[in-house]
Amino acid sequence: MYKPTKLTQSTQPMKPTTQTHFGFQTVDEDEKASLVRGVFDSVASRYDVMNDLMSAGLHRLWKNDMVGWLSPRDGMRIVDVAGGTGDIAFRMLKRAACHVTVCDINQHMLEEGRNRALDRNILHGIEWVCGNAESMPMPDGEYDAYTIAFGIRNVTHIDLALKEAYRLLKPGGRFMCLEFSHLRHEWMQKLYDMYSFNAIPKIGEWVTGSGDPYQYLVESIRNFPKQEAFATMIRDAGFGNVQYRNLSQGVVAIHSGRKL
Ligand code: SAM
Repeated sequence: MYKPTKLTQSTQPMKPTTQTHFGFQTVDEDEKASLVRGVFDSVASRYDVMNDLMSAGLHRLWKNDMVGWLSPRDGMRIVDVAGGTGDIAFRMLKRAACHVTVCDINQHMLEEGRNRALDRNILHGIEWVCGNAESMPMPDGEYDAYTIAFGIRNVTHIDLALKEAYRLLKPGGRFMCLEFSHLRHEWMQKLYDMYSFNAIPKIGEWVTGSGDPYQYLVESIRNFPKQEAFATMIRDAGFGNVQYRNLSQGVVAIHSGRKL
């Protein structure tokens, strides 16, 4: 005998959800930004010391390389997205009398950055804005350069962040991204994976009391597109003259493009 299906009324409206990566986990797209925010909330106060420990200080050289390649000049207006505690901005301000807007989704990271700026007596040429790389709270064509260091792999929709970068730049403006990448040889990648998957979460646990955020960080590095694939994404966003440089055999890469 035919039995009609019992209809239940949900108090939640049905909405289609698309899934994405959060490290090696699969999560709903709407969840990712708040999970990433949670990661950086928990590491904000030890973020800078952890960078030195995890990379044996190399992150300083990689950041110097990106800022060196950009070569900021006096009067330039630069937005440093996912700028966290201001590491990239401070390097730019050391090289030129430019103006840097540090934008990050995480208020705790920005507060750490603002305190570091005060400790260094950096009072001018920098501003701190809370915002999402996917929908930046600034008008079109505002900046001569857009930089993002170790940030873009955390963004849910990388294509949207790249479109926003394009929108914010003046014609001729420069896009630069420093990000963990993929090693040039398979055997190097295996050694590096052994180090990152075993040592980094342990160092994180030892310094911050929790290894989970660092487990996410190493997983997100593995999920990030390879150098050529990322260069294609930058071209697809409209940028021209797209190039990249591998540093430390491809542990990290700097991608550069221009709004033509
Ligand atoms: N650029 C800084 C540096 O190199 O020291 C900080 C890098 S930290 C690994 C990544 C930063 O990306 C965090 O401060 C985090 O809050 C920020 N972030 C993650 N998702 C973001 C998003 N959708 N929009 C803006 N910032 C984001």
